[in-house]
Amino acid sequence: MTAAPYDAIVLGAGAAGLMCAAVAGQRGRRVLLLDHADAIGKKILISGGGRCNFTNIHTAADRYISANPHFAKSALARYTPADFLALVEAHGIAWHEKTLGQLFCDGSAKQVVAMLMEEAAKGGVTILHGQPVREVAHGVDGFGVTFGERRFTAPALVVATGGPSIPKMGATGFAYDLARRFGLKVVEPRPALVPLTLGGDDLLFRELSGVAAPVEARAGKAAFREAALFTHRGLSGPAILQVSSYWQRGDPVTIDFLPDAAPGWLVEAKRARPRATLASTLAPLLPARLAQTLADRLALPGELGAQTDRKLVEAETRLKRWAFQPNGTEGFAKAEVTVGGIATAGLSSQTMMAKSVPGLYAVGEAVDVTGWLGGYNFQWAWASGYAAGQAL
Ligand SMILES: Cc1cc2nc3c(=O)[nH]c(=O)nc-3n(C[C@H](O)[C@H](O)[C@H](O)COP(=O)(O)OP(=O)(O)OC[C@H]3O[C@@H](n4cnc5c(N)ncnc54)[C@H](O)[C@@H]3O)c2cc1C
Repeated sequence: MTAAPYDAIVLGAGAAGLMCAAVAGQRGRRVLLLDHADAIGKKILISGGGRCNFTNIHTAADRYISANPHFAKSALARYTPADFLALVEAHGIAWHEKTLGQLFCDGSAKQVVAMLMEEAAKGGVTILHGQPVREVAHGVDGFGVTFGERRFTAPALVVATGGPSIPKMGATGFAYDLARRFGLKVVEPRPALVPLTLGGDDLLFRELSGVAAPVEARAGKAAFREAALFTHRGLSGPAILQVSSYWQRGDPVTIDFLPDAAPGWLVEAKRARPRATLASTLAPLLPARLAQTLADRLALPGELGAQTDRKLVEAETRLKRWAFQPNGTEGFAKAEVTVGGIATAGLSSQTMMAKSVPGLYAVGEAVDVTGWLGGYNFQWAWASGYAAGQAL
């Protein structure tokens, strides 16, 4: 057998693959990084509205969804937001905290891709892209990958091809097919951080398309206090994107339109201003069109003074737990990430290597670890890429 010219082949030159290849390369490993796309790091380039929300300082395992909530702990502890920030600063990239611990480039996401490419170059990583990965085989010469017309072999293979969100960016379910072929289980993937669609009576809220309000949105046990946005198809905005990752088909999403209001506030309002209407009482608290629509739906005509306390308490309760019944999501075409993926049960949380296939690794979004909105997904990509890069 001729010696393979590479120690590792990394499939997918996105966030996790670039980090993994750079780290392994800088440790002296000969790394080949392959991607089918016409450009490297495309999702990084469009991320954070072009400014890349590259990490979140509040990163912790409980901000990730996974069949095993403990799996991400080890990698996240060994490569932290401070570690990535140190790299960003070493490359002279200016950054700022936007909100809720979310760190963004002041300039452009292009700087993050350039930084990762430089780090990969420092590690002597060979990057090839723009050809399809035709075949992946496993035999006596290790892993064989046919890329375009060329075949490469290496004793280690890292699957870093991400999830199927935004197929028009080159995203595929390739990682899942590959994992299954090697006998690994895949937790059913579904779109996450995705707008929800409404039907039935809820469609009446379409008239509010474009209106946003700070709310607390809830799906199951998950609750997020951020903005919600009404769209012509349903609900979006950060609060909704966050709960979409937890939402199960058939379940309601409830919205607290006045999360800061004290219990009994509407009865109090009646005592203070009995001549006011519900709409005029809601108007200073909510965007005007939303206040009017909610008041219309609550159907308490006339002055507050004419309503019984019981009716007002009922209205208050509905405003606190307004139930929407989404009929679906806008799907992988609009989802920022994918929940589910290669089952963590088959992987080492230390190295990301498949327990049953020595030399096979999986990192990044391909794995069943999905972060909240706000830089958490990149932090997982960096941390899992680093863990595998250290182990190769
Ligand atoms: C619009 C948008 C905005 C986002 N903004 C943020 C943000 O600001 N902060 C944040 O933390 N997260 C954000 N995310 C999520 C984040 O981009 C992903 O979680 C992250 O890129 C995952 O890294 P990855 O390396 O696992 O996969 P990716 O970055 O998706 O990289 C996978 C790579 O594999 C390649 N590939 C796929 N299939 C194949 C195949 N069959 N053969 C060869 N190569 C293949 C792809 O071309 C790609 O280069 C955003 C996502 C989207 C869609």
